[in-house]
Amino acid sequence: MSWQAHYITLFPDMFPGPLGTSLAGRAHEAGIWQCQTHALRDHGLGKHKNVDDTPSGGGAGMVLRADVAAAAIEHVQAQTANLPLLMPSPRGQIFDQAMAQQLAKGPGAIFFCNRFEGVDERVIEAFDVREVSIGDYILSGGEPAALAMSDAIIRLLPGVMGSALSSQEESFANGLLEYPQYTRPNSWQGAEIPEVLVSGDHQKIAQWRAEKSAEITQKRRPDLWAKYLPTKK
Ligand code: SAH
Repeated sequence: MSWQAHYITLFPDMFPGPLGTSLAGRAHEAGIWQCQTHALRDHGLGKHKNVDDTPSGGGAGMVLRADVAAAAIEHVQAQTANLPLLMPSPRGQIFDQAMAQQLAKGPGAIFFCNRFEGVDERVIEAFDVREVSIGDYILSGGEPAALAMSDAIIRLLPGVMGSALSSQEESFANGLLEYPQYTRPNSWQGAEIPEVLVSGDHQKIAQWRAEKSAEITQKRRPDLWAKYLPTKK
């Protein structure tokens, strides 16, 4: 069974977008994941297919109407069985590798992509939507966030990455950032590859990498390091 990605959006043309090339693109062609878009506009109201209205209580911008959003969600849920409903939102839980792994193990996801100032809060409550953020900054819409999250999930699906090992060793897989990488030439502009990496001693190499991983995480991401330490004990 393919992993099912459903995108509810005002801009269906944005999908699969960058996920149609390279690793995700090949996986798409191979049927490892499926991309289905659902135009929010189809559920719009009146001659102009309106989807938004002014915020109750006043203020700038527009808000996606509850009735329109609900109709779109119900339409997709009627044709899918029990897929998690995610809504990209700066107020959401921060998306991380653990969430990507968890979603990759499941059958797929529905991404409800907002625009404007977001959607009427009653929809979030009624559908028990999971709000997810890709970081503390504001995008113009949920689509780029849905693409970023989908990319992180798709590369974890069985058969997508050449070597399963590479996903086990990279940053965050064990709670740490990755060690530095090198390749030929051994000497470049007077800078040499660390000697241990050309020693052929696999145990020493593993030890060096673990040390570097710890050093870099401690220095750059004290928050990750603090979370990692208790798991080590
Ligand atoms: N007024 C809102 C921001 C609206 S941005 C606020 O202050 O919270 C428009 C839409 O872009 C959001 O509804 C959300 O779907 C998406 N978006 C913006 N930033 C995002 C982020 N960091 N992560 C995920 N989605 C985001």
